[in-house]
Amino acid sequence: AYDQYQKRTSSSEAMADELRELVPAGVCSTFRAYEPYPVHARRAAGTSIIDVDGNEYLDFALNNGTQLVGHTHPQLSAAVKSQIDDGTLYTRPSSLLEFAAQPLIDRWEAIEQVRFTNSGTESVMHAMRLARAVTGREKIIRMEGAYHGAHDPALVSKMPPVDRAGPAADPTPVKESQGIPESVPENILLGQYNDADSVERLLREHEGEVAGILVEPACFNLGVVEPEGSFLQRLRELADEFNAVLIFDEVKTGVKLAPGGGAEYYGVQPDLVALAKAIGGGYPVGAFGGRREFMSQIAADLDEGVATGAAHYGTYNGNPLSLRAVGVTLREILTDDAYDHVTELADRLAAGYRDVIDDAGLEGHVVTAGSQGMVYFTDERIRTFRDWEHVDEEFHEAYWFGMLNRGVIPHPHDASQQWTISVQHTADDIDAHVDAFADLATHLSA
Ligand code: PMP
Repeated sequence: AYDQYQKRTSSSEAMADELRELVPAGVCSTFRAYEPYPVHARRAAGTSIIDVDGNEYLDFALNNGTQLVGHTHPQLSAAVKSQIDDGTLYTRPSSLLEFAAQPLIDRWEAIEQVRFTNSGTESVMHAMRLARAVTGREKIIRMEGAYHGAHDPALVSKMPPVDRAGPAADPTPVKESQGIPESVPENILLGQYNDADSVERLLREHEGEVAGILVEPACFNLGVVEPEGSFLQRLRELADEFNAVLIFDEVKTGVKLAPGGGAEYYGVQPDLVALAKAIGGGYPVGAFGGRREFMSQIAADLDEGVATGAAHYGTYNGNPLSLRAVGVTLREILTDDAYDHVTELADRLAAGYRDVIDDAGLEGHVVTAGSQGMVYFTDERIRTFRDWEHVDEEFHEAYWFGMLNRGVIPHPHDASQQWTISVQHTADDIDAHVDAFADLATHLSA
């Protein structure tokens, strides 16, 4: 699959060589660098990406799932262009703040107030700080193997090598970057997703020390791993029992699983929600929100030299371009009909994959959640990070490049991700995706 890929993408290869001289690994987010070199983009439009060699790909990666609206959505592009003429940065409030905030408050029962940021990293970082501020405690429980952004505590055991991670019941924190102070892992406690008992044990062991429980409602950085049984409900109850703040990282699930994200889809409301990605339709924006009694602690005052609240600053926070994008995306594009459309297509794609897997006799299964889905080339069900380690990454890579060679980007480039179907995809796009997989499957099984 590499050979054919390299034949089709010689300009990408040449550009990668040049860029690596200027920019470490030739990319600005290390996840984007993969072997032998990434597809380099010339432009994107609708549901397609065109690369620097002129190849056109049907795009189901959609920038790590950010573009539920698809690329260059005409309504969104027109709104942002008109906003450019009205000013791109005010650093003062305007009616755009209401335009963007209200739909988030309407969609999440848990969100009574919201602040805007520029990324998911910032949203999670500030939600964690706020949880510490309102509880006066320092420790955060997070699930081993989950991604929560690029800030220091988020890089503790995001996807540790299992041979260094200790037993599942008592994981060893692994710092996944140099430069993270030794003190950081001391305040991170590792639970296992889909194992509420693991979280309860930590809360008992560290009673009175845990500020918050941080969790993605569904793990969208392990493909698609959904909460089983009463997992999220039990986290809600445990947070209440131990006076800890329940934080949902809905950077990937927010406004995708349902209009009100994983909280609505699974029927459990957290105390704080971190958002980004799909809320802005492809423009750089994030947000964190929650119950008024918590959010109202965001203040910068000092009382006799002692901080009275949690800080939140940023030149680009709530900039007019991003707020306009959020408002238009949520009020005008992601309508109830839009959710029906993407869900219907997601079911069609999943059914297509299942048929091909059966017909070709491949070992594998498909999991879907809302408009997202993933194929795992194993018959084993994936419930936790430790299960995910059984995924055959080499086989998955052959699949991924094989799909690229057939003009489809099925999802971001590794098996930790999932496909996203946008409001602009059509049944024909789904059928083309399935046809490409059917053609590839005969080679994969050979
Ligand atoms: N949390 C989750 C669940 C994510 O998937 C991501 C990004 N993939 C982040 C946080 C960080 O968001 P950003 O890349 O916008 O900083």
